Amino acid sequence: MTYNVTLIPGDGIGPEISAAAKEIIDASGVNINWEVVLAGEAVMAEHRTPLPDYVLESIKRNRVALKGPITTPVGGGFRSVNVTLRQKLNLYANVRPARTLPGISTRYEKVDIIVVRENTEDLYAGIEHKVGKNAAESIKIITREASEKIVHFAFNLARRESRKKVTAVHKANIMKLTDGLFLDCAREVAKDYPDISFDEMIVDALCMKLVQAPETYDVLVLPNLYGDIVSDLCAGLVGGLGVAPGANIGDDAAVFEPVHGSAPKHAGKNRVNPLAIILSGIMMLEHLNEKKAAQRVMEAVIAVLKEKTHLTYDLGGSASTSEMAAAIIRKMS
Ligand code: NAD
Repeated sequence: MTYNVTLIPGDGIGPEISAAAKEIIDASGVNINWEVVLAGEAVMAEHRTPLPDYVLESIKRNRVALKGPITTPVGGGFRSVNVTLRQKLNLYANVRPARTLPGISTRYEKVDIIVVRENTEDLYAGIEHKVGKNAAESIKIITREASEKIVHFAFNLARRESRKKVTAVHKANIMKLTDGLFLDCAREVAKDYPDISFDEMIVDALCMKLVQAPETYDVLVLPNLYGDIVSDLCAGLVGGLGVAPGANIGDDAAVFEPVHGSAPKHAGKNRVNPLAIILSGIMMLEHLNEKKAAQRVMEAVIAVLKEKTHLTYDLGGSASTSEMAAAIIRKMS
């Protein structure tokens, strides 16, 4: 079987890490016909948009994409391509596993958390305006439909992965209507899954508990903004952004991408860790039901991590991106 998969290399470090991931996935034995489409800063001048229609058309056609990070200007400039992509394709669930990996030294052992982040609304709706010269407002949108959908997604994922607990994260003590609605939906949906325990945490308290006792958490479900922040925190528990994969899942398409951004200061230096996008590629292989290929890549990654001789700077080594990728490929041959 041959799969058609859209590959978006992305900005900054994107082209280096996506080249590494593509080579490794190809070496796993799975047949992928990669449709490479450019988006982001690289196409701005030619297309006057960082997200030309051909990108969306390619993902809609292939239904699966592997994506490098894309730069978003801070303050002014174009709207986030990442957020627009998730909204336009209704990729409503952002799944970000944070697992302790063998061979990576961290402050914690046995972290195994899946962050499930609502991906289409909240303050990311992008509805902002100035109020006079010296104030600005942003509108936070929470709907029953999106909240119920993401909580069902989290419980179904928990069931599929034999997980024991789903924790809904909120700030409903302050945002009584918006986060209050999210929490009400979570409590209601939880009743449909009596086999999985449910609890709820205020987001600030959760952050403290996560750094004290991360092993007590299992599946977290959060509105968009808290999910974005908490998933970076969870990445820090297991070795940093260099090892944090992610997936954006909708009913019609799925886009796999690392949690990290385009890290412009490292771009073109062949030095960053390719693991986050490689692990995202493993999630993609599992999504395609290519379990053996996924396992093959994972075993090779773990062998390289344990050996510790071909690690990038962030993991305490001095290997380049391409040297680490080549070491993983050698473990598969
Ligand atoms: P970033 O994740 O790009 O980088 C922050 C720091 O994390 C880097 O300087 C580096 O020290 C470390 N890091 C990140 N990836 C690494 C890797 N693979 N290996 C080793 N170290 C790594 O965050 P930022 O600097 O805040 O954002 C840069 C740009 O990326 C911004 O324009 C932002 O909007 C964008 N961004 C895009 C996405 C996405 O495409 N999904 C996600 C986050 C940020």
